Parts: sequence; C-alpha cells; structure tokens
Amino acid sequence: SFTRFKGELRFENVSFNYKGKPEPILDNVSFNVATGEKLAIMGATGSGKSTLLNLIPRIFEATEGKIFVGGVEVNDWPLKDLRDTIGLVPQQSILFTGSILENLSWGDSDAAPDELEEAAKKAQIHESIDLFPQKYKTRVGQKGVNLSGGQKQRLSIARALVRKPSILILDDSTSALDVKTENALWDALAKEAATMLVVTQKVQTARGADKILLLDEGKVVGYGTHADL
Ligand code: ATP
Repeated sequence: SFTRFKGELRFENVSFNYKGKPEPILDNVSFNVATGEKLAIMGATGSGKSTLLNLIPRIFEATEGKIFVGGVEVNDWPLKDLRDTIGLVPQQSILFTGSILENLSWGDSDAAPDELEEAAKKAQIHESIDLFPQKYKTRVGQKGVNLSGGQKQRLSIARALVRKPSILILDDSTSALDVKTENALWDALAKEAATMLVVTQKVQTARGADKILLLDEGKVVGYGTHADL
C-alpha cells in the first residue's frame, strides 16, 4: 500500500556537482531507508552531508542517478507535495520576528493551536515556552526574547513536526541540546511513524539510529548498523 512506502527513501548512484564547479560533491551515493527507520549521516565537515539532504526536497537536483521518495522519483513529484511530505530542519535555525505561535505555524497556517502545542511538546520546547509570561504569544526575533541556541533548534524541529512529514530530516539540529533533552526528544520522535535522517557529529546519537551512512569527500565509506561499522 502507499502507506507502507510513504516514508521510504532511496538513493540510486547519485552524483552531484555545483554548477560551474567540476569536482563532484557527491560521488555515486546509494542507500535506502525503509518507512519508520532512522538513518544517521556522519562525516567530516565538507564531506557533502548538507548537500545530500538538500537533494531530497529538490533544493538542488542530482547531476546523475535517481532519488525516490515513497517509491516515486523526486522529479516526478509535484514540488509542493514533495516539500510538504519532507520536513527539513536546516543547520541554522531560521526564526522570524513574530510570536512563537506564528513561527510554529509558518508554512501551515491551518494548524490548530493544540496541534502546535503537541508538536512543541514532542520537540521538548513546550516547557520553556510555558515559562514565558506570554507563553505562545511571546515575541521572538527583533525586540523579542532571546532564545538559546538549543531553544531555537527545538523550535525549528517543532515547526517541522507541525506539518507531520513522512520523512523528517535533521541537519545537525540537536548539536546544542544536552544529553537528557536529546534523549527525551528521540523518545518522543520514536513514537512518530516518520522516517528520520539525522546528520550528527555525536557517536551517541548515531548509535541510536537503525543504520549509519558515513561520507568522506562525497563518497560512501561506511554503511550499516553501528555494530557493523
Ligand atoms: P558541514 O559538516 O560543515 O556542514 P557538510 O558535510 O554538510 O559540511 P556540505 O555543506 O554539503 O558539507 O558541503 C560540501 C562541499 O560543497 C564543500 O566543499 C562546500 O564548500 C561545497 N558547497 C556547499 N554549498 C555550495 C554551494 N552553494 N556552491 C558551491 N559549493 C558549495
């Protein structure tokens, strides 16, 4: 059924170079993630991790090879539907001037307040928000409250969860979280049916994934369970 393959992701011999730059940033990358599985992506800075993630919602298009989401090649997806089904949390959290509520519902203005709160709870940010006198109406950004790096990351994760993506992608989005908060986050996310891709520098985080993909200069140099590698 469609549901079974909804969150499936497959890279088939994917290569990529940025326009005007001949050197391959990704070189013949293949892997697959089943619906509900969690894949950790590791590799040195500049190894191509963010580039790989950006190919999935077609922010850039693969130069060679094919990428399938839910069994359908990304090029065959209507772009809006593709981007709705993929929740990509970028490395740098992007918050705009406005309330926490507005920041959470960005891109999904139909979301009900209780859905926003539920996403915030899963992302482990609800308790911090609840401590602000104006709660979800608290302003962030210019003239707003100062959020810590970890709070911004959790707010960005909550924003992605609001849209109930079938594939959730975290690009080093938990780097500023302490171990306890991060564990609580993984526990909450494990209850979601979503497939997850997580770029991380932390061995601890990678160990909790079903599989690890190790990149070096755009090439896959390791792929398997933590025990395999
Ligand atoms: P980090 O861990 O530092 O985030 P990364 O593994 O995510 O690194 P990428 O950000 O994918 O690596 O970068 C891979 C390579 O592509 C780097 O050499 C980088 O300089 C180059 N690169 C990234 N974005 C662009 C761009 N828009 N145009 C040209 N080159 C780019």
